[in-house]
Amino acid sequence: MQITNIPKEFKKAIPVIQKLNHAGFEAYFVGGSVRDCILNLPIHDVDIATSAFPAEIKAVFDKTIDVGIEHGTVLVLHQEESYEITTFRTESTYQDYRRPDHVDFVRSLEEDLKRRDFTINALALDPTGRVIDLFNGLEDLEQRRLKAVGVAEERFHEDALRMMRGLRFVAQLGFDLEEKTQVAIMNNAFLLSKISVERICIEFEKMLLGQDVKRAFQLFIATHCYRYCPGLTNKKTELMEIVPQLTHHIDDLTVAWCLILDQLLIEKKQHKAFLKAWKLSNQRIQEVELLFQALERVKQDTLTVLDYYSLNETCLKQLAKIATFYGIHLSETDLLQAYRSLPIHSLKDLAINGNDLMQALNRKGGAWLKETLQHCERQVLQNEVPNEREPLLDEALEFVKSSDKASN
Ligand code: ATP
Ligand code: MG
Repeated sequence: MQITNIPKEFKKAIPVIQKLNHAGFEAYFVGGSVRDCILNLPIHDVDIATSAFPAEIKAVFDKTIDVGIEHGTVLVLHQEESYEITTFRTESTYQDYRRPDHVDFVRSLEEDLKRRDFTINALALDPTGRVIDLFNGLEDLEQRRLKAVGVAEERFHEDALRMMRGLRFVAQLGFDLEEKTQVAIMNNAFLLSKISVERICIEFEKMLLGQDVKRAFQLFIATHCYRYCPGLTNKKTELMEIVPQLTHHIDDLTVAWCLILDQLLIEKKQHKAFLKAWKLSNQRIQEVELLFQALERVKQDTLTVLDYYSLNETCLKQLAKIATFYGIHLSETDLLQAYRSLPIHSLKDLAINGNDLMQALNRKGGAWLKETLQHCERQVLQNEVPNEREPLLDEALEFVKSSDKASN
């Protein structure tokens, strides 16, 4: 196959390949960018593979950075862009189902393409636009089929993460799993227990954000991969119930995790532990918990002014998205407008603070102070008292008096 209309991302990098060629080495575009170019999808990172060994790559270019020299990867800076250039390599004997014991640099493109995961990821493109297709990747692209390079069973045995990568490519590209590849995933799913949660999570999240998450999720269950993921081992029934819910594309990970918590009927007090087991960041966990709380309120009835106050704009945007999965229409614009029209957005915005109260009432700090500020906050939010110093101090005085009376 000859690509006639070479995308600009590749065109910009052609001089890099030519420089290697002039020094006597082979060099090609490889990996996801070649696949995405043929599929007419946007290209993210342009990866280059070469017969030059790392020291040889460094000798060819002026500006290089060692990013993974032991794996044969050198970063080359060229006209404001950076390119990962990796020496052709083979990966020999995998003893722990996840990492090759060592990599060997080789001079043969074929050897390099052979160790790649799927045929559609094992294409190479030369600077003239000629596609090198040693494993029938072009036909698989045409047939929209994800097929392991070589013997699928062996490939997943070498590196179990490839199974999760497979499911995420199904989700991202909407491809089918070739039959033997699917059977091999099912037979080897248990090997995912050897893979770190962080690496599984990266692929799982990419799967959740894929256009065809529904199909991938079905396969995630059918191939038993779910059994080796945190908190999902005994959740087959609940996972199956998620599938018909996946009617819309999810473009936000907080929305995705919140849906999962809800659909899996995970007890509220277990939420944090579940998300932590997936090694999510504390910030993500907080966002998911806040969204879950907002979703519960929406499912019960409408949001009150106090609910709005406890949320933020990011959460409200996510709320509008997640509501669609429950057949509830919430307009993002309306939600944001309601939020923006709140008289205050945090205690900092209140026209009085703790010091003002202690001075005006001539009292030392204590539990009363927090309670009084919270009372004033509520009064302002409910438009009972304007957010101004004098009316608020009067309100506070009344509140303290009646609290004192009540406790006497
Ligand atoms: P993306 O568009 O998400 O970057 P990609 O296919 O480029 O997809 P990368 O993780 O960037 O995925 O990997 C680049 C290439 O390296 C892949 O296309 C594939 O050829 C090879 N590769 C990556 N991970 C593996 C793996 N675990 N086993 C075999 N080959 C792999
Ligand atoms: Mg890539």
